[in-house]
Amino acid sequence: MNQTGYFSHRDCWKHEMGPGHPECPERLDAIEDRLLVSGVGDALDRREAPLATVSDLELAHGRMHVAAIRGMTDNLQEQIVAGGPTHAQIDPDTSLNVHTWNAALRAAGAALAATDAVIGGELENAFCSVRPPGHHACRDRAMGFCFFNNVALAARYALERHGLSRVAIIDFDVHHGNGTEDIVAGDPRILMASFYQHPFYPVDWPHRQADNLVNLPVPAYTRGMDVREMIDMVWLPRLEAHKPEMIFISAGFDAHREDDMGQLGLVEQDYVWITTCIKDIARRHAKGRIVSCLEGGYHLGALARSVEAHIRVLADL
Ligand SMILES: [Zn+2]
Repeated sequence: MNQTGYFSHRDCWKHEMGPGHPECPERLDAIEDRLLVSGVGDALDRREAPLATVSDLELAHGRMHVAAIRGMTDNLQEQIVAGGPTHAQIDPDTSLNVHTWNAALRAAGAALAATDAVIGGELENAFCSVRPPGHHACRDRAMGFCFFNNVALAARYALERHGLSRVAIIDFDVHHGNGTEDIVAGDPRILMASFYQHPFYPVDWPHRQADNLVNLPVPAYTRGMDVREMIDMVWLPRLEAHKPEMIFISAGFDAHREDDMGQLGLVEQDYVWITTCIKDIARRHAKGRIVSCLEGGYHLGALARSVEAHIRVLADL
């Protein structure tokens, strides 16, 4: 048995937001190529992501939000038949095409199926190589390249459908996971630990204060060693005290030094270090159970190398 699952689906390639958009299907190609060339892919248990259901989505989203995205997709289809534009704009950075609905359902479905497989003991942990990403998706709003919040959904699913009592969400994307925070703030069953560049996108977002949020806003040009020190001092004691029965990761790799979407200075070895810390906590409290979902990461080379480094730790390679 391979201990680490790798969930994806071709539908995740079909969602695209127009020419030159950084959140592009080639991101997944870069990851796949790297796993193939390095041989790391051979050590993973590859699985097709199923479609999440509407009732799954409503574990973290309002019924109206889910219906609105579905409705935009239907309208877009009619519009295209009538010779209209191929994309429906949600915000200046975020739009959907006719494949976005299915891609988003696969991305959420990957996180839920990975949660099933890990809790069921088929896998120790899993990486979901999916897009669209999710951590900016709020309970009632799509934004920042995100439609449904894959990680928040999986965390709620583990609590509601599998009966776990405590889980943790760790977000190491360069951007603040405002959507996840919107969904989980004040839920004592979920400890959310994150660091992110600040001030930065989403700039006008009020930072929530709640006992279950461990936020580490860091200024531009912070180096990996400084981030590690803060994680060591601030995240780890809180995670130890929370004793999560499962850990979910919002795995964005846009804090990498080579990624100009952000201005932080992390490198592959920092992702190795962070993943190792998470894995230690998971082994101590959570039977090793981790589900990690791709969020950002826009420099294709740095993204591919960082995902490989992250997966090597998950899979003990
Ligand atoms: Zn990001």
